[in-house]
Amino acid sequence: MRTPMMAGNWKMNKTIAEAVELARSIRAQVEGFSSVERVLCPAFVCLPAVAEALQGSTIALGAQNMHWADSGAYTGEVSGPMLQGLVSHVIIGHSERRQYFAETDETVNQKIHAALRHGLTPIVCVGESLAQNEAGETHEFVGGQVRAALAGLEAEQVQRIIIAYEPIWAIGTGKAATAEQAQAICGGTVRATLAELYGDPVAQQVRVLYGGSTNQNNIREIMEQPDIDGALIGGASLQADNYSNMVRIT
Ligand code: PGA
Repeated sequence: MRTPMMAGNWKMNKTIAEAVELARSIRAQVEGFSSVERVLCPAFVCLPAVAEALQGSTIALGAQNMHWADSGAYTGEVSGPMLQGLVSHVIIGHSERRQYFAETDETVNQKIHAALRHGLTPIVCVGESLAQNEAGETHEFVGGQVRAALAGLEAEQVQRIIIAYEPIWAIGTGKAATAEQAQAICGGTVRATLAELYGDPVAQQVRVLYGGSTNQNNIREIMEQPDIDGALIGGASLQADNYSNMVRIT
């Protein structure tokens, strides 16, 4: 009922030429796999060229961030109207944005409102630090992030959102959460919070992804979990074969 999604977050990697090459290579391998929603998220400057490489394809394009205002004196930022027509998805509140660029629950919430206003599908990231995990605070912290992110949204809007649970300690470390750990938070925290806020039918419609050191070797077990609908993939999405195998396995 929930279409699985494999979203690749290329982060600050690949020149324009390299991004086009990677997109072409992925397209050649996974174009036909339309039962899995495939989204590629290159850096802003690569978007027009990758969009061209994906023209006529069933592979979707996403941005890695956006500003909450439509325009204005925000040097270096990119707004919803600029992305509209170019991408269909946008990653919001990635832990690297929160950690290095001072994003807060409030700005994440404002960005989600902006994305929806412009018809973009937000992939909203939440996740706890290692210290929070070890202190047993994961459920409370991640639940709080979900509540703050969704503040002021109607059920109809929430149904258009994708939430990615990404424990910070698992991102880029090669130490993915176990499938059971990921399921416990994706189901017992993220979806449970959605159900509390909007009711179970809405919660059952929202896709919840897991992210953090996923690859072709561990994705099967992760995708077997009932509350995990896909992955937000960093490192492995920079390798056409690895990413494509993840789509195939799903
Ligand atoms: P990773 O990154 O797959 O390299 O751990 C995931 C992410 O940050 O979205």
